[in-house]
Amino acid sequence: MEYRRLGKSGLQVSVLSLGSWITFGKQIEDRTAERLMAIAYEQGVNFFDNAEIYARGQSEIVMGQILKKMKWERSSWLVSSKVFWGDGGKRPNQTGLSRKHIFEACHASLRRLQVEYIDLYFCHRPDKNTPIEETVWVMNHLIAQGKILYWGTSEWSAQEIMEAHMVARENRLIGPVMEQPQYNMFHRHKVEVEFSQIYKTVGLGTTIWSPLASGVLTGKYLEQFPSGSRLTLEGFEWLKERNLTPAHIEQVRALDGLAKDIGTSLPMLAVAWCVQNPNVSTAILGASRPEQLEETLGSLEVVQKLTAEVNERIEGILTNKPVPPQF
Ligand code: NDP
Repeated sequence: MEYRRLGKSGLQVSVLSLGSWITFGKQIEDRTAERLMAIAYEQGVNFFDNAEIYARGQSEIVMGQILKKMKWERSSWLVSSKVFWGDGGKRPNQTGLSRKHIFEACHASLRRLQVEYIDLYFCHRPDKNTPIEETVWVMNHLIAQGKILYWGTSEWSAQEIMEAHMVARENRLIGPVMEQPQYNMFHRHKVEVEFSQIYKTVGLGTTIWSPLASGVLTGKYLEQFPSGSRLTLEGFEWLKERNLTPAHIEQVRALDGLAKDIGTSLPMLAVAWCVQNPNVSTAILGASRPEQLEETLGSLEVVQKLTAEVNERIEGILTNKPVPPQF
């Protein structure tokens, strides 16, 4: 396993990590979740990603039980949670980034995860109705109280992240260290262009999500819809519409051929393509079965196959390379 600094922080995070969205507490049985975490940890993964909204708190409960059972040294792993959507309640103050919701959500996550502190705590989305000062102050308080160690954002714009940094700087508070954006072969702009300055200035780290575009970048949907797979699950039709467009299907077919040409599989190629970007601190993997995770955990070996020529062939298939701003 390779470890990278999370932005300019001192924290080292495994370049491949494991997330629990849709799977833990919902799609898969708890013993499968346990197997996945064990495989990941054995292979050097040190970061497990979670959120208050995942399976409405149940994902944290499952992960917390596994972490407790495994008895791995607390210093050897990192666990995250995210605050914004709540864990089911829809009344005022049960969602968002107010001091009240963040404070209550953090305590609820600590209880569900059965931990004394959360290593990485994310604001899952920006909250246009809460002053950024309020959010930055409460994150700083949670750090001072020892309840979280690092805080960050998810799907915030570069401008929103910089506003948080300005507030932190003015008030001598701790600013956000990491952002969790979507990043995969189909979705590139934020990571490759929008954040390009703030990697350098504030030293932003990234924990990227959906490296396989919810499984589309495995090629599994080219001929059929394997039963039980994500895009067949009730309630996730929107994922199919978003990720399985006719253009994507053709690109996946061509990428699948390219993967075979260079002696690898498409899932491994797609993950390797993400982590070859040095601004990716960690790519969060998802899996519903142990074999899937065993495959994608092997992706680091494929990075060396991504020569300039192979990358050029990939760009030729994707035709979506973002254009950086010209100064
Ligand atoms: P991916 O895009 O990598 O999709 C993972 C899914 O793809 C698996 O659950 C599985 O689904 C399928 N899959 C994975 N490996 C293989 C394989 N080798 N062969 C065939 N199918 C495979 O990642 P996720 O969308 O799951 O995102 C990863 C993590 O990122 C989440 O768990 C979560 O922690 C985080 N996240 C954060 C978000 C945010 O807003 N901050 C949003 C979304 C995710 P199946 O078997 O069901 O087809």
